[in-house]
Amino acid sequence: MKPIVDKFNRQIKDLRISITDKCNFRCPYCMPADVYKKDYRFLTHSQLLRYEEIERIARIFTGLGVRKIRITGGEPLLRVGIENLVGLLSEIEDLEDLTLTTNGYLLKKKAKSLRDAGLKRLTVSLDSLDDEVFKKLNGTEFSVNKVLDGIYEAEICGFKPIKINVVVQRGINDESIQEMIGFFKERGHIIRFIEYMDVGNINNWKPEDVFSAEEIRQRIEDRFPIEPADPGGEGGVAERYLLKDGTGEIGIIASITRPFCIGCTRMRLSLDGRLYTCLFAQKGTDLKGPLRASASDEEIMDIIRNIWKVREDHYSELRAEILKKGFSKNKIEMFRIGG
Ligand code: SAM
Ligand code: SF4
Ligand code: SF4
Repeated sequence: MKPIVDKFNRQIKDLRISITDKCNFRCPYCMPADVYKKDYRFLTHSQLLRYEEIERIARIFTGLGVRKIRITGGEPLLRVGIENLVGLLSEIEDLEDLTLTTNGYLLKKKAKSLRDAGLKRLTVSLDSLDDEVFKKLNGTEFSVNKVLDGIYEAEICGFKPIKINVVVQRGINDESIQEMIGFFKERGHIIRFIEYMDVGNINNWKPEDVFSAEEIRQRIEDRFPIEPADPGGEGGVAERYLLKDGTGEIGIIASITRPFCIGCTRMRLSLDGRLYTCLFAQKGTDLKGPLRASASDEEIMDIIRNIWKVREDHYSELRAEILKKGFSKNKIEMFRIGG
């Protein structure tokens, strides 16, 4: 089958699926507590794609060349029966990589059943090992230990290495960088430091809050000598470094200061069945409607092909220009299409 490419000759290779908009955290950079209050109306169950529908879409995507799927959210472990979805997706023959991103809070309870269902890889988000900083960053009173317990359980169940995502914000958790490396390299996990991004419209992002990739690298080097690793593996998103003492690997994701749109091969499926071609998109295309109106696989494939063929997103490369003209206010929120 001829691969489909977009306007910049990028092939479609991976799919990110958000399966819920609910979350037990209120990270200010994603779902600020003053916006997502107790009375906030999240989508109802019937508005969400069912697991069988997600599986069908995933199979169609693998028919179009997708080899990697990440399950995310919101907090994916909050969705009832998540193991059933993992089971369905892990049986897709052509899928080479199935992974999931979680805040880790429910991982102690869920690690074994996820592993048994066929999940091979896991990313846990944790922005600091300092309880006070962590609470500020998760917008709740939940402490670091709860996430660490989840990570330990996941290790026991065979998830190793685990990727640890750290969003770095200037003056908030940049002081946590070195401590986190010291801690996780001993356990054989891979930390990925992520530049704070202007996703969605409500996190009040400011350029000066970004602790840049270069600053992150420098802060690491101040204590842990590193050297660039061979590119590859991650599909070009993370800049990879090896610790010179041979104890592991670190990734830096420079979405703001060194955009990688040219290598962006990702489609995103929202919890309610819309397709988005960029994390910063303002508009998606409905797939749930056709799916529930009995469209054939070939018809769904055509919809996907037609979306991808005209794709010309490269927001991160245009960010400076866009911001100069004033914020674009109608971006989709990250938890709906998955980080
Ligand atoms: N709830 C899960 C979690 O936190 O891991 C999965 C969904 S979350 C939206 C996915 C990833 O996006 C997390 O690693 C989170 O830290 C990251 N993220 C959220 N908002 C971000 C922002 N403004 N800039 C950079 N990364 C962000
Ligand atoms: Fe929840 Fe993850 Fe967003 Fe934090 S980053 S609010 S844990 S979805
Ligand atoms: Fe991909 Fe859009 Fe991010 Fe560029 S800005 S890397 S096109 S998701």
